[in-house]
Amino acid sequence: MLKHKLRKVSAILLTVFLLASVWSAGAFAASADEVVLTVFHTNDQHGRMGAAPYVSQLAKDTAGNVLILDVGDALHGQIATNLSKGLAMVEVMNIAGYAAMAPGNHDFNFGFERLLELSKTMQFPLLSANVKRANGETLLQPYEVIKMDNLTVGILGLSTPETLTKTDPRNVTGLTFASPSAIAAETVAALQNEGCDLIIALAHLGTDNATSPDERSTALATIPGVDLIIDGHSHTRLESGNVAGDVLTVQTGAYGENIGMVTFTKIGDAFEKTAKLIPVPGPEDESDLVADQAVLDIIAEWEAQNESLVSHVVGESAYFLQGERSAVRIAETNLSNLIADSMRFATGADVAFLTGGNIRASIEAGDITMGDVLTTLPFSNLLMTVELSGADLLKVMEHGVSLYPEPAASYIQVSGMSFRFDPAAPAGSRVVSAFVGGEALDSAKVYTVASSEFLVAGGDGYTMMTEGKNTMYFQGDAEALADFLATKPTILEEAEGRVSVIESDAATLPAETPAAAAPTPEAIVRPVPPIAVDAVYVVKSGDVLWRIAQSYGTTWQELQRINNLANPHLIYPGQMIILPSGAAQSAA
Ligand SMILES: [Zn+2]
Repeated sequence: MLKHKLRKVSAILLTVFLLASVWSAGAFAASADEVVLTVFHTNDQHGRMGAAPYVSQLAKDTAGNVLILDVGDALHGQIATNLSKGLAMVEVMNIAGYAAMAPGNHDFNFGFERLLELSKTMQFPLLSANVKRANGETLLQPYEVIKMDNLTVGILGLSTPETLTKTDPRNVTGLTFASPSAIAAETVAALQNEGCDLIIALAHLGTDNATSPDERSTALATIPGVDLIIDGHSHTRLESGNVAGDVLTVQTGAYGENIGMVTFTKIGDAFEKTAKLIPVPGPEDESDLVADQAVLDIIAEWEAQNESLVSHVVGESAYFLQGERSAVRIAETNLSNLIADSMRFATGADVAFLTGGNIRASIEAGDITMGDVLTTLPFSNLLMTVELSGADLLKVMEHGVSLYPEPAASYIQVSGMSFRFDPAAPAGSRVVSAFVGGEALDSAKVYTVASSEFLVAGGDGYTMMTEGKNTMYFQGDAEALADFLATKPTILEEAEGRVSVIESDAATLPAETPAAAAPTPEAIVRPVPPIAVDAVYVVKSGDVLWRIAQSYGTTWQELQRINNLANPHLIYPGQMIILPSGAAQSAA
């Protein structure tokens, strides 16, 4: 069942060129300075399959004891891997000849039950010593002992406790993540008892400052008996590893951009370790590296299978869903609202926002396929939530319309909130009224805000998002939209005025009044924009527009006009209906 690379050198391979290296590298044991083990490693591939054909061929071309190891966050992140819920990546890793893997937080993205299922199709052990069920048993195999030519290698796996918040919490319900360093110390002792010559920790822990120090990979370096820590999670690129005492720590960066290589040379009773990174060539790059055809073939097979997966119908729309660049980068559309709603649906957040730049295509009326969803949202952005103060949420809104009327990738699209802005005002102070869940935005209140991983990290200039607390990860944006479409949400023909623009003559005035001029009184007093919004009504189940109108002393025709409703019969629970100011005041 072990698929580690015990390369038997056949006589056919003993060509003139190979003779020298093969004889010295292991066919004969017991020379003084001998490479006893070569380890190739990957981490944080996030669904990218580009490194696999190369790591496989490198291992095949290396004489002696060889292991290929992965340190997690491999199974999720790209269309091919996500559509198969991780299976495509597992099959690629099987053919490439991986010897062991430790799961990272994102390997739980399809739920831990799915990870267990996948582990059964892995032709290598999935190792984690610190992920436990409620009864204290480990969820996965904690370690593996691999007996090779003149060498016994112990490998243990460790998964970051940050998994509890760095995947959708529902994916790990009932699991606990024990302290990696305490568990590692116990496990190393067990491996020493089994007579291991070398001990390797596959540690999806990382070295991020945001990670608690006792949960970083550096906390393992003081455990006696550990020879090599293969790290992941922090996407750190270590050219030749870090050495602390007898322990070498390595990490390759991320996304399969590099393959790590560590060689163990026996000198007397000790092992000398050297590490380096081997860059994986892109499709256009020149490289001496050779790709393993068998791995390329399985990747091609999965790409072909995806063709049928993308034709799968996930929902339908009676209307054309507007996602053109020229539309979504300057205004709200029915599609931008649908996507923003799907983000709130997937996360349960108070509000959600994305940008016009996230939306890459329209969707035609009729059946909607997974392929349509992926064309519209091609970035495999993970959804996240953060807790943000109302004051910071206002900054989000301000930034979202700061470039208006210029079309901008950063233009904001929202759900659960609405606001009105005056484009004649200077950027940063344009928002004149803002509501969350029908109530005026409270700058002191804390709101749960859903957005993409990219925007939560401060992308597109949304730097205020990095002030967010208690970040949590959820599924990918395309998956969330597909799941939301499956619930048959009400889809509107048009936008509904969540973000509305004050159209006054002010917009045609010069943006700034020259200070040096001696202006007439009319010129220095900026026209006060008519603030038409005083309140928002949130539709409850069973509501009809005329009755809402009646209770606020207005007419349904007026509400239809203000809210730009294409069909006054089509309102849905949770939808926000803007009330005219007079009407709001007359309400009880
Ligand atoms: Zn990770």
